[in-house]
Amino acid sequence: MSPVIDLEAERQEILRQYRRLLRTAKPYLHGNDAKLIKKAFNQSLEAHKDMRRKSGEPYILHPLAVAQIAVEEIGLGTTSIVAALLHDVVEDTPTEISDVERDFGPKVARIVDGLTKISGVFEQGTSEQAENFRKMLLTLSDDVRVSLIKLADRLHNMRTLDSMPRHKQLKIASETIYLYAPLAHRLGLYAIKTELEDLHLKYTDTEIYNELKGKVKQSQSARNRFIKEFVQPIDEELKAQGFSYEIKGRPKSIYSILKKMRKQNVTFEEVYDLFAIRIILDVPHEQEKAACWQVYSIVTDFYQPNPDRLRDWVSTPKANGYESLHTTVMSHAGQWVEVQIRTRRMDEIAEKGYAAHWKYKDSGTPQPESTLEAWVNRVREMLETNNSSALEFMDEFRQNLFVKEVYTFTPKGKLVILPDKATALDFAFDIHSHIGLHCLGAKVNQKLEPFSYRLRNGDQVEILTSHKQRPTADWLNMVITSKAKTRIKDFLRDDKRAKADDGKFIYEKRLELIGVENTSENFQRLLAYFNVPTAQEFYYRLAVGQLDGREIREPLFRPVTQAVPASQPRKFDDEIQKIRGVHPNMLVVGERTDKFNHSLARCCNPIPGDDVFGFETETGLIIHRTSCHRAVDLMSNYGNRIVRAKWTDQLELAFLAGVRLKGSDRVGLVNDVTRIISTALKVNMRSIIIDADDGFFEGKILVFVNDTDHLNKLIQRLSKVNGVLQVERFDS
Ligand code: MN
Repeated sequence: MSPVIDLEAERQEILRQYRRLLRTAKPYLHGNDAKLIKKAFNQSLEAHKDMRRKSGEPYILHPLAVAQIAVEEIGLGTTSIVAALLHDVVEDTPTEISDVERDFGPKVARIVDGLTKISGVFEQGTSEQAENFRKMLLTLSDDVRVSLIKLADRLHNMRTLDSMPRHKQLKIASETIYLYAPLAHRLGLYAIKTELEDLHLKYTDTEIYNELKGKVKQSQSARNRFIKEFVQPIDEELKAQGFSYEIKGRPKSIYSILKKMRKQNVTFEEVYDLFAIRIILDVPHEQEKAACWQVYSIVTDFYQPNPDRLRDWVSTPKANGYESLHTTVMSHAGQWVEVQIRTRRMDEIAEKGYAAHWKYKDSGTPQPESTLEAWVNRVREMLETNNSSALEFMDEFRQNLFVKEVYTFTPKGKLVILPDKATALDFAFDIHSHIGLHCLGAKVNQKLEPFSYRLRNGDQVEILTSHKQRPTADWLNMVITSKAKTRIKDFLRDDKRAKADDGKFIYEKRLELIGVENTSENFQRLLAYFNVPTAQEFYYRLAVGQLDGREIREPLFRPVTQAVPASQPRKFDDEIQKIRGVHPNMLVVGERTDKFNHSLARCCNPIPGDDVFGFETETGLIIHRTSCHRAVDLMSNYGNRIVRAKWTDQLELAFLAGVRLKGSDRVGLVNDVTRIISTALKVNMRSIIIDADDGFFEGKILVFVNDTDHLNKLIQRLSKVNGVLQVERFDS
């Protein structure tokens, strides 16, 4: 029996959310806007009226929430609110895109159409999913609002992921960290990016997430005390100088704390910058830069700055539009503290990203959005010129999302922003493909350099060209921008095609000379003989002399008497046998009851009790931990090959797991450790390595355990051994 639904209460809730949306949007509404939003709401309500979300709530609450995020957290206007309200009607209801166009005009229809094409995307196979992502980017270069609403949609889905089945949670969370968080970052939506990352962690590594969240909360009051004390002298001085401002202590996100812990291999307690101090100034636009540096001067009057940690994104904003002045100073308690200085406008841009730019554009103040626009243009260019497969493209695009930038200049002082690690050759292609294709070398800061020279911040670059210069295949190893790569590949392909034409001519002449008929059978025989995969390749080699035309002789064309035995088809059964079907009863996999041939992934070494998923391969199912470093990649790229897996209740079986110990060395320590392992807990050890140095030791022990409980018990016991400071599990 289905539970009783209080329809009246639901109706009230829907209205409440709708009114909230109107209230939030109100300051930005003009003329007919409110009417338009009401119309969109009513149509969406009607279209979705019989639908419910997985959580059981009325479907309309989802588009309402997406619209709310669009206006409140991204700062979008009426067109986007209307599009957000309608974003699922074409996909999920009988409404057609032409209906939307008739009722709301072409602008809204185009956005809804863009959103429709890209939803449901990740249900299918790998390349299809990449292809769909490419479509989304096409609309991004057409109208950035499509991507922004898509991000709002994703954010709401992530916030309500609880009601999804486990395997979908993993898939959606992985896609989020793979694509959407980087995209949010690239579009400058810092707050949304951070939340997406934290939610990803919450669903893929729940235990760690909860643990860190607890620790952040626990340390909060001590942190507040520290911040209050730290800020006090700055606060007084800012007041004395008549600034209008706000000071915030911003805690770092859980995800970024964990990232830091892993990268620097430190514990939570050892992460020193759990928060940053942010000073937000209310000053007119023309005084912004001076005011920021004035405040910098005040801060560093009280606290000594670390000269290596000054970041000036006020003079030169980041490519995603981010502006701020960062410094790290030494507090009186002997702790480094990051201080971020920015104006209200910069803060708004940093939190809400791109869309906020437009708001300021309306008010007539000049704004630095050129860098972001330049990026959108670059994406457009990539899409237009890229001939690689959708998958390759996505890889390249993702690389482009993350990278840091290097700031360089032309001889006339024009700023050229390139991805970090870009070379002089990338620079040449960025200026113009013609210059890139004929690049000989470069003068960097007046000094002659090869074009493989890796650019550094502040380099002034003059490209030297020659009309005789031609790209070769090894150029591909000297560039990192997709524009340069694409242009070089295009050139090589065209070049190869042209040469192949020459080769074909040579071939035909040769056949005439040796009196052999030009049939396809003869040609195939020749390809096989020289072991060349394609006709084009054959002609090409002939043209450039890699293959000597004189080797094409008449006897080669005589019928072969002895047939080459066809290669044996691979015996999959044998292959399957080779994969360890560790313990056939160990896993319940998906909903299937048939015994699945599975093995445990080497990269993350799962043991019973770990949160796991299965990955289908030709030879069987590989079980990975959901926290495996490869999980995100697998789940987001090969979502359709992910199978739900969980452990069944265990027989007493042993799994190999690694434990790492650190501490101060003392006589008898190894003895104590091994005694606990083998005697007290009756755990079998496979190997133990202990390195001691300067009174410290680090040990790695491989043990056989039954499950995570067993392992945790062991870790607990070991951490109580006198002298042991840290015990943790490690993989592979
Ligand atoms: Mn949706």
